[in-house]
Parts: sequence; C-alpha cells; structure tokens
Amino acid sequence: MAFVGLVATTFGSSDGSAARADAPLKVVATTGMIADAARQVGGDAVEVRALMGPGVDPHAYRQTRSDIVAMTRADLVLWHGLYLEAQMEEFFHDLARKRTVVAVADHLDKDKLRGHDAYADKYDPHVWMTPALWKDMVAEVQAALSDARPDQADLFAANAAAHLAELDQLIAYGNDILAQVPVENRVLVTAHDAFGYFGRDFGFEVLGIQGISTQSEAGLNRIGALVDMLVARQISAVFVESSVSDRSMRALIEGAAAQGHEVRIGGELFSDAMGADGSYEGTYVGMLDHNMTTIAAALGAKVPPKGMSGRLSGAGF
Ligand code: ZN
Repeated sequence: MAFVGLVATTFGSSDGSAARADAPLKVVATTGMIADAARQVGGDAVEVRALMGPGVDPHAYRQTRSDIVAMTRADLVLWHGLYLEAQMEEFFHDLARKRTVVAVADHLDKDKLRGHDAYADKYDPHVWMTPALWKDMVAEVQAALSDARPDQADLFAANAAAHLAELDQLIAYGNDILAQVPVENRVLVTAHDAFGYFGRDFGFEVLGIQGISTQSEAGLNRIGALVDMLVARQISAVFVESSVSDRSMRALIEGAAAQGHEVRIGGELFSDAMGADGSYEGTYVGMLDHNMTTIAAALGAKVPPKGMSGRLSGAGF
C-alpha cells in the first residue's frame, strides 16, 4: 500500500528524520468542512489546505493546476467521497496509487446514511448538515491523521475529544431552538436537496428545487409543483444557499406572488461550503450555528440574538 511507502520516507531515514517528523503533516482537504475537522483534530501538528473556498459548489468542482501540485506534495489527501466530488472521482482514484488518499465519508456506517435520489447504489453525501453525523466524520479524520502520524495519536485523540464536546453543545443548542419552531412551519424549502440529514435529525420536511446534486436542471414542472405547495400550505419563507445560484428561488417567489401569496427569503444558508475564511461562519461550528439559528428564527422560533455563543455576524444577526 502507498501508506507503507509514506511512513518509510517520513520516518525511516536516519538522516534528518527528526526534522521531518517535527514538521507539520501536510494535509490537503477538498471541502472547507473536512479541512476544519483536520485543523480541529490536528492542531499545530498539521498544515491544512482546503481546495474549495466559500461559495464553491463541490458537485461541480474540478481540480485546478495548483490543486494538483498541492495534492501531489501532500502527506495526506482527504476528500469527502459518497460521490460528492463527482467531477474529481477519477482523479482521486489515480492519485491513490501515489499518495495516501482517504475518502472520509466512505468510511461512515451505511446504516446511518440516506439514499441518493438519482442513484439506487449511492448515498446522500451531505452528512455535514447534522452535527451527530459529523461527529463520526471527525472520528474518521482523527483515524486518518493518526495513521499518517502514529507518534501524534495521543494529541489527535485529545483534540478530537475537545471538538466532539463542542459538537455535543451544538446538538443541544440545535435541538433546543429548532423544537421551538411551530410544527406547521417545519418545512425547509431550499435550492437543492442538501438538507435531508438536517430534516431527518431535527424533524423538518425538506424540499429542494433541484435534487441531491446541483448538476441537474430544475424543471419547470418541479417549480410549478413547489409554488402550488407553498400557496396551499401558506409557507411564507424559503432559503437561498451560499454555493448555489438563487435564480430558481426567485422563480418560486414570483410564482407564488402571481397566485397572491407572499413568500420571503428566510435567509442565506451555508449548504455545501462554509463562510468566509477566518470568520466564525468559516468554521464548521459557526456554519451550523448560522444555519440552525437562521432557520429557527425565520420559521418562528425565539433565538439568541447572535446564535449559540453570541458570535454570528451575517445578515440578520
Ligand atoms: Zn449539495
């Protein structure tokens, strides 16, 4: 396996091996969420680069020339898997022959996953939408880092434990504020079907204009059916996504208005990418805090003014 070769080159030589073992582990992650998990678990022992920044759609993303350079120089490459990075599958299968490459979500317990709407043999990749499932992802990232740097396994275990405790806090907060949304309002209308796990864990019906991938065009029939549903059920808020065009959402609002029913944008959610680098929303916890707080507030719950820990700063906070 490539892994054996990597260990040999990192730790095996008698000359300069101490310096190399002390150097941070170079990790490249595809999504910002996985990069965040690697930073939380790895701390100072890792140097993490995320390929996809804020607003980038992973379903459509293709590796750039500089991504390829970074990945071929990395000690460890973490990608999401579950067919999220549909345009990069082949590239990663090739890269796996030369580097240590881990498709993190492919290691999750399949019993916890939702099916895919378009492929009978695939799963819904949007597992970051609930912190309960994300805890399993953090554990997989911890395992991958520990495999790459066994001498740092204790540090990674301690960092992971601290982060998992933070995620437990996030789960408790989400359960608390989302349970305050009146039952008849628990409908989440978004641009694409990214929120299935969120709906399952927090008891919301989720309706995306597009399917699980953003790569399918939203049909006029689908928009028409959703407009009728918004009017019939008097749903008054829909949500735009940071990584998907809001074009079809505008069509939905105009369609409802034509039938005399006013629908507003309940806020912008981070669906497949996090907020700005260096901001609270640019961390996994901040991303989920933003989504949970935005959804709860727009659909009728009372929420703390700036979210779980008073750190939210986006529109509406
Ligand atoms: Zn998506």
